[in-house]
Amino acid sequence: MAPASFSPTTFSPGTEPLEIIRWALDTYPDLLMPSAFNLNGVVLLDLAAQAGYQGEVVFVDTGFHFPETLSTRDRLAARYPQLTFVTLNSGAHPDDGQTDPGLYASDPDACCAARKVAPLQAYLRQKAPAALLNARSRDQAATRADIPFVEEGGARVKINPLAHWTREQLEAYARDHDLPVNPLYWDGFLSIGCWPCTRAVRPGEDARAGRWAGKGKTECGLWAGEGRL
Ligand code: SF4
Repeated sequence: MAPASFSPTTFSPGTEPLEIIRWALDTYPDLLMPSAFNLNGVVLLDLAAQAGYQGEVVFVDTGFHFPETLSTRDRLAARYPQLTFVTLNSGAHPDDGQTDPGLYASDPDACCAARKVAPLQAYLRQKAPAALLNARSRDQAATRADIPFVEEGGARVKINPLAHWTREQLEAYARDHDLPVNPLYWDGFLSIGCWPCTRAVRPGEDARAGRWAGKGKTECGLWAGEGRL
């Protein structure tokens, strides 16, 4: 149980994610959770459910997801019936006319902006939550090395309860709780986005090295850059 004075000023790197989530639920009752159901997201989802979160889990179908990602979403929805799983752009596919089907190769920033960021931004404008629950952690990539538990900036507050957890801690938690991790993860896909822009990680690379490899791009735009959430 967190002390009455529990607040961001008392958080330390060792503060348990569950306590951060409970604080966030008290502080931001309209908290909303976007997710792509990576290892971090699956662990966060389980912790949030434990903490009493009963809100939405929002996923954007870009039309380029691996079937394993969609089936992971479905397994999670069955496991946590108290949560509402929302899929934006449901049924999207590469030839649906939303973008040139090869845009991911010629201009991946534009492809992410149209197929991923824009649908979520539109949904969040409509729902207008004060804060988002997010699963990023510091050890995923050098660009995430300073992520705080409570992140100001952008359009709304981001709560990052897993900021200080390592990949080893996340894997141990997932195994201990028999969580339905995307099966591609165990084949080296440590961060899984769309199939044209994701490869397995090689030994010594960070967890996100397989995203947009060789394209000079490290983020989709949801969490960094001018259009961030
Ligand atoms: S990850 Fe690749 S395919 Fe998916 S939206 Fe971004 S550029 Fe397009």
